[in-house]
Amino acid sequence: MEQFYLNKNKIAILGGGPAGIYCALNILFLFYSQNFFDFSIDIFDKGEILRTLIPTGNGRCNISNSISDIKDFVLNYPRGDKFLYSVFSRHFNYDSLDFFNSLGIKTYTEADGRIFPVSQSSKDVRNKMLKKLFSYKNVRFINKKIISQNDLTDYNKIVVAAGSRGVENLIVSFGHKYIKFEKSLCALNILNNIYPKGVSVKTLDGDFVFTDKGISGPLAFKISSINAFSDFPYDIKIKLFNEEKLFQLAELYPKKSAGSIVASLIPRSLAKVIVKDYYKNICEISKSELKQYSILQLTVVSKANVGEIVNAGGINLDDVDKNCKSKICHNLWFCGEILNIDGFCGGFNLQNCWSTGYVVAKDLVSSIMKDMV
Ligand SMILES: Cc1cc2nc3c(=O)[nH]c(=O)nc-3n(C[C@H](O)[C@H](O)[C@H](O)COP(=O)(O)OP(=O)(O)OC[C@H]3O[C@@H](n4cnc5c(N)ncnc54)[C@H](O)[C@@H]3O)c2cc1C
Repeated sequence: MEQFYLNKNKIAILGGGPAGIYCALNILFLFYSQNFFDFSIDIFDKGEILRTLIPTGNGRCNISNSISDIKDFVLNYPRGDKFLYSVFSRHFNYDSLDFFNSLGIKTYTEADGRIFPVSQSSKDVRNKMLKKLFSYKNVRFINKKIISQNDLTDYNKIVVAAGSRGVENLIVSFGHKYIKFEKSLCALNILNNIYPKGVSVKTLDGDFVFTDKGISGPLAFKISSINAFSDFPYDIKIKLFNEEKLFQLAELYPKKSAGSIVASLIPRSLAKVIVKDYYKNICEISKSELKQYSILQLTVVSKANVGEIVNAGGINLDDVDKNCKSKICHNLWFCGEILNIDGFCGGFNLQNCWSTGYVVAKDLVSSIMKDMV
């Protein structure tokens, strides 16, 4: 134990989630690549290390997304897009895939661009990351809840990667302000839920499913993300199908009922709810009325506790530099979800952890190397 502390460069990483562990691994790689070994890393977590990686992608770990242009990639972050543009220009999805490949984690891309490990197992990703991490002598895991900055006075470099749950007081203890955390990527409860429960709907805006109390699925998560800070109730409009398609069908089959024609474009059970004159011949219905059937208007009343749930809000990006280093407190960095950065479903939140974790590692390592000369 004593031996472990016989160095000048004591690094604390607060949080053993994806961001903290990716950062730790990169600190190790960067130091070792420069034959520098005079450092120690203590990783603090109140729970089991990397346990938050296990439920990702329903246990399959949607590790990143294959969008190749950074400009397009950052469109998937309602908060933090500009900041990430600079971060991604230094460490992007292909860099993370190279990193995982070097740990023996091979990946593949699904048709929609989501990237998964070939093992389809987040446990496998976790095990391989931890195996590599603990193959180094310079690193220790300490199972402890950190209450405030005062618990870390022995360290000369601190990385806070504590995620976004119950971290408000911790942030304040470092002299930082935070933007209030708000749940995102969750299911939504709606007013007057007359819709067919369990029915999945493919729309022009994305896919969703009706639940007991509202809507869930990718489109619902995206809407919750865009509106993370909206007051309730708020109205949303979902474009179910192209109205031109309905007009064409109406011309082709004027004597068919409006309901049956709409039901050829969306699930019949939904058509039954939204088409007022279900059995009327479609030719008797005006174009403007038909057009209304192409849009589903809902009133969202609250968030549900279901989803990939990440939190919008966190460390104000104005208070950190481009390397996620605090402008307020010396020798302090932040990475991952604790920053006011959050993305849509599709691997974007983990990519935030990987990329901010990397830039922190790089900057922290150069700051130690500079101190040495
Ligand atoms: C069900 C689910 C599925 C998801 N699936 C995906 C997916 O497939 N792809 C994707 O990109 N994103 C996904 N996400 C989002 C992604 O998991 C998170 O964005 C990511 O885990 C954030 O990583 P982090 O390291 O910043 O924080 P966290 O994962 O929250 O880790 C922070 C760690 O810090 C520890 N900690 C906090 N406070 C203290 C303290 N005071 N003292 C000591 N330790 C502390 C915590 O115990 C925790 O282990 C999913 C999220 C959920 C909930």
